[in-house]
Amino acid sequence: MSLPFIDLKAQYRLLKSDIDARIQRVLDSGAFILGPEVAELEAELARWAGVRHAIGVANGTDALQIALMIERIGPGDAVFLPSFTYAATAEAAVLVGATPVFVDVDAGTFNVDPDDLDARIAAVAKAGKLRPKALIAVDLFGQTADYRRLAPVMERHGLHLVSDAAQSFGGKLDGKAVGSLAPITTTSFYPSKPLGCYGDGGAILTDDPAKAELVRSIRFHGTSSSDRYDMARIGMNSRLDTIQAAVLLAKLKVFARELETRERVARIYDSRLGNLVAVPVRAPGVTSSWAQYTVQVDRRDQVAARLKSAGIPTAIYYQRPLHLQSAYRHYGQGAGSLPVSEQVADRVLSLPIHGYLDDAAAQRVCDAVAQAVGS
Ligand SMILES: *Cc1c(COP(=O)(O)O)cnc(C)c1O
Repeated sequence: MSLPFIDLKAQYRLLKSDIDARIQRVLDSGAFILGPEVAELEAELARWAGVRHAIGVANGTDALQIALMIERIGPGDAVFLPSFTYAATAEAAVLVGATPVFVDVDAGTFNVDPDDLDARIAAVAKAGKLRPKALIAVDLFGQTADYRRLAPVMERHGLHLVSDAAQSFGGKLDGKAVGSLAPITTTSFYPSKPLGCYGDGGAILTDDPAKAELVRSIRFHGTSSSDRYDMARIGMNSRLDTIQAAVLLAKLKVFARELETRERVARIYDSRLGNLVAVPVRAPGVTSSWAQYTVQVDRRDQVAARLKSAGIPTAIYYQRPLHLQSAYRHYGQGAGSLPVSEQVADRVLSLPIHGYLDDAAAQRVCDAVAQAVGS
């Protein structure tokens, strides 16, 4: 029998009565847009992250775009971001009219390499065509970016920092929760993320009341906070649906326990796979939310095929770094320009991990990997 890669059905079986009742309440109330569940969820998310403001939006991509809009980032601005990430990170920069500049990553953590970032900012500044304006740091696979080493680089070059925590909500760095590690953090509730809803959803987290007010305005077509009939700016239609907020309120109740299970599975993988394949490097002080457990192997396709025939599904995040994708090639960072991103893309393989994977299943994955990497 094949294991599921993520098990949304096990979670629904556990939460069914609560989720169904909460959805029914929204149906009965008719408050589908910005109903009371949205504000209730926002308060819970802010408390979870230890920040003053959380604002629900339609998805994690809009969240990134809005984060750039409130800093007035646009044409002529360079937005630095890792090439080894999901396309949404770069898309947000392009959608506001800015130019994405791809940065290489660390081969162990898969997150932005602060030294490479520093060098690329200096090169853009020296070329004089674009203004270095922002970094979107991605917490890839649930592990926080190296914010301690990124902070001085941001400061030296006067850049805005946006944290793309689409995969890392629930994680921590030095005891501080994701959401509080940057002036503005965005996340996603896409169903397969660690905290996922039953459709699209996202949020923006910040301690800054002025930023929070701008986000609330922009998600609602730019409506003025003091006069609802005045459009103060150009905004978007990017509200979080009440039904999705209701689903998330139910799921938040078990989120801490799910994160513990993910951590337990990751420890089993670490200890049993550490000398068979390259396991993810845990940076000191980081608690990952384990959106993915991604190893690096030689002959990746052969290993994946062997695992598949043993009933173990895998996924490849990401097959091709963004600078080599058709839509992004014209930015001119060709093959060879981001060597680590290119190298890891050929070797990564993500193993099953979710909040309902028991120890026996984790051991079964390890047995299959041991078989698959043997010759
Ligand atoms: C999923 C994801 C996004 C986008 O989130 P959506 O809610 O799907 O729009 C952005 N960045 C990263 C790194 C992601 O994994």
